[in-house]
Amino acid sequence: MLNQSTIATARSGLETGKITATELTQACLDQITAIDPTYHAYLSVHAERALAAAGEADNLMRRGITHQDRPLLGIPISLKDNMAVQGAPLTCASRILENFVSPYDGTVAKRLKDAGAILLGRLNLDEFAMGSSTENSAFGTSRNPWDPSRTPGGSSGGSAVAVKTDQCVAALGSDTGGSIRQPAAYCGCVGLKPSYGRVSRFGLVAYASSLDQIGPVTKTVQDSATLLNVIAGHDPQDSTSVPQGVPDYTEALEEGVKGLRIGLPKEYFVEGLDPEVRSAVDQAVTQFSELGAEIVEIQLPHSDYAIATYYLIATAEASANLARFEGIRYGHRVDGDDPFTLNSRTRGQGFGPEVKRRVILGTYCLSSGYYDAYYLRAQKVRTLIREDFLRAYEKVDLVLTPTTPSPAFLLGEKMADPLQMYLLDIFTISANLTGNCGISLPCGLTKDPLLPIGLQLLGKPFDESTLLRAAHTFEQANQWHLKRPPLQASD
Ligand code: GLN
Repeated sequence: MLNQSTIATARSGLETGKITATELTQACLDQITAIDPTYHAYLSVHAERALAAAGEADNLMRRGITHQDRPLLGIPISLKDNMAVQGAPLTCASRILENFVSPYDGTVAKRLKDAGAILLGRLNLDEFAMGSSTENSAFGTSRNPWDPSRTPGGSSGGSAVAVKTDQCVAALGSDTGGSIRQPAAYCGCVGLKPSYGRVSRFGLVAYASSLDQIGPVTKTVQDSATLLNVIAGHDPQDSTSVPQGVPDYTEALEEGVKGLRIGLPKEYFVEGLDPEVRSAVDQAVTQFSELGAEIVEIQLPHSDYAIATYYLIATAEASANLARFEGIRYGHRVDGDDPFTLNSRTRGQGFGPEVKRRVILGTYCLSSGYYDAYYLRAQKVRTLIREDFLRAYEKVDLVLTPTTPSPAFLLGEKMADPLQMYLLDIFTISANLTGNCGISLPCGLTKDPLLPIGLQLLGKPFDESTLLRAAHTFEQANQWHLKRPPLQASD
């Protein structure tokens, strides 16, 4: 099954001439045809274009171009549908952008193409990346590979589903409050949120600009490092991308965790944590200690305020960012006799209920009279949370937590109660508020039903190397990443 390849195995297959890029691409396309009607990872698939690019990659390899020159040559990769790819739909899973086609390549798309990757299609998400279940997509939810009656998580649900069901070799997602790590945890993939400023956001449709980051969703930690090598780095088009050199993230992977200090925040191991999640994470802690790491208890005293802080800042930024969808410059338009009517009709019809809720919440907390009480105060608490982490990182190299309080929930279970949905983000949002990097990787399975459990490691800003090294060491000692869901072919 060629489509089960990782980036690493695909590269060696291509290099030794055992497989061609065309065969590999076709295998992924065949898998999409066979199972995606059930799992709905893709919003659009660009088969013809992908096969043409694969043919070109095969030609280049015949002419002696190697992975040394182009690290992703011939590898099929798919992008969440909120990242611009020239000539491809860019819907953000919203009616308001239903027929919008991107006129340009965002930086990550350009870097992937320059590295020789084959872009297969556009992956499903919660509308404008707002959500934790993919149920807010205007084009239907994605489904969990382990149990299609459950959520794959969100907002990058399509990315995690496509990777876990081998409908692409690797994918990119975006993470504003956990949207790469949480679906990775629910589906059993590896999801990396790079440090804020590590990867260019140029061409990523903005949800909350001070929190958004693009990152890899992959089958292994090594693939995550390979993909980060390609997408990381300064970009003059994004003034928040940091002009700091990019190390080779694959280099330190094998160095082990001996002597590494790993912090356990006592605020994260409290009531409400699912017992099976807790025991899998406890076992991971024991294992890290057996592998030579030093486990240290730490405190992150402002953790209780993280959700409130995040949902004020994220919605405030969203309300400003989404003002651009006014029916004139982009996408869907519903005419009206005057600009106000046109604008309100377009937005009224174009946005789904969760997006509207957030625009209203964000506008409210930015409005005069409330600004100081909500937005400004949230910014101050954000600083306190950042200081908690800075203090913790004086004592430790990494922080270890569960990725989510519980495994994947049933579709529909939390839709009626947005607050319940927001509370699930408790362990992931702090890394966005602080700019730290974070990774989720599989660390176990619940028994009945069989569902993946995610382990989260949080690293210092721009210390992805240590994060990836520790994650790789754990992965190789356990092999949880190799567990496969029992997939259902579509009728
Ligand atoms: N669940 C969070 C939210 O709805 C995170 C989303 C994300 O990271 N894009 O805002």
